[in-house]
Amino acid sequence: METLKRTKIKALLSEKPGIEVLAKGWVRTKRGNKQVKFIALNDGSTIANIQIVANTELFDEELFKKITTGASLAVRGKLVESMGSGQAVEIQATDIQVLGECDPMRFPLQKKDTTLEYLRSVAHMRLRTNTFGAVLRIRNQMAFAIHTFFNQKGFVYLHTPLITESDAEGAGDMFQVTTLDLKNIPLDKKGNVDFSKDFFGKKTSLTVSGQLEGELGATAVGEIYTFGPTFRAENSNTPRHLAEFWMIEPEMAFYDINDNMELAEEFVKFLVQWALDHCMEDLKFLNDKYDEGLIERMQSVLGIPFQRVTYTEAVEILEKAVADGVKFEYPVHWGTDFQSEHERYLVEKHFCKPVILIDFPKDIKAFYMKQNEDGRTVRGMDVLFPKIGEIIGGSEREASLEKLEARIEELGMSRKNLEWYIDTRRYGSVPHSGFGLGFERLLLFVTGMANIRDVIPFPRTPKNAEF
Ligand code: ATP
Ligand code: MN
Repeated sequence: METLKRTKIKALLSEKPGIEVLAKGWVRTKRGNKQVKFIALNDGSTIANIQIVANTELFDEELFKKITTGASLAVRGKLVESMGSGQAVEIQATDIQVLGECDPMRFPLQKKDTTLEYLRSVAHMRLRTNTFGAVLRIRNQMAFAIHTFFNQKGFVYLHTPLITESDAEGAGDMFQVTTLDLKNIPLDKKGNVDFSKDFFGKKTSLTVSGQLEGELGATAVGEIYTFGPTFRAENSNTPRHLAEFWMIEPEMAFYDINDNMELAEEFVKFLVQWALDHCMEDLKFLNDKYDEGLIERMQSVLGIPFQRVTYTEAVEILEKAVADGVKFEYPVHWGTDFQSEHERYLVEKHFCKPVILIDFPKDIKAFYMKQNEDGRTVRGMDVLFPKIGEIIGGSEREASLEKLEARIEELGMSRKNLEWYIDTRRYGSVPHSGFGLGFERLLLFVTGMANIRDVIPFPRTPKNAEF
């Protein structure tokens, strides 16, 4: 059997009948009668299965007992035109080897109707389902699209550290990294933890953003992007937050907020178009199974320019909505951070298209954002999407050394760990901008999945780090 080279099922399905082939994969279903068995085989190269037709006279009866859902097979045979509907070709088997049996009584993917919630409890096996096959292939395409987009524009892929001593967002929700013995923590004379005894000789954590280091790259080679894991120990059990997620953070020298908005819009449109161009089979499956509006919603963001609106204007719209009887769970007035319900109202009910919010109150945004003339707003920028809410957060950065220092002072931040960052404003400071796209938020949009736990292979959320 091994003298013939294996062909992946995706390729087999578009081959012309008549050739001798070798397929390998996992059994999805088996049916048939005394004379003939039909086996649906899948190898993950495509959502479609190839049908194996096995004439029972050619095989030992015992063989078919081992061909159960989940078992792995190598099948050799002739590719023939299929009589059945649903596929152009099938394999008329001449040789079948069971590579690995699969006990039908114990295999976790037995039940016909497996809910997404149940599948999360068997996340190590759920990748074998059609749903997660589709999600994984789309995830892969999106990662490739991201690199393609930036590569075409001449951006440099910058690898920023995962272990850091800075808290970019000032939010404080970080996972500490330590090799100290937690049962015997060294203390200094004042009774505080003596981090000089720790691995790095200082207190360190997992990064919540690569942006600050990204700015060092942008002010050296012009345009960079990061694409890596990001960690936030926020205890928010929402369908849009993970403790470990992937973020894409472009950072560009000589870009103002308008250049930044233009790039963000072009970027997400490119990614959505890429998914439509490269993942249609999987999209159709997800559209039919989970979200009837998926493909239409994806197409709807492409043709039109996103709505640009200031935070202050958005507050007025939301306040008017409340006055007209719209009910929100959280109150909204100038100075509050919008909740997902407010963002979705703006996108889905008011403007009916993606929205780019700018000019936020400085008190709800990070210290590094460029301060506006009015003294109370900063040049932040959030991109809001239907069904998701915030998908991108970014800003023009404060380029003035004096203003940046004043803001750090005003917020009472410790400068000790920030001098290296402030150096970008000391030596050849330039106007610059950037943003962060949550990779899994993007995937929510292009898969139609409702819960962020279902667009990453192994989700990490509060009280959950299995597999
Ligand atoms: P949110 O208000 O939704 O919590 P944020 O303001 O904390 O978002 P940023 O700090 O601006 O988000 O991060 C940039 C992007 O990273 C967000 O627009 C979002 O797409 C994504 N993101 C942020 N936090 C998470 C998380 N916990 N899990 C997944 N993606 C996230
Ligand atoms: Mn957040």
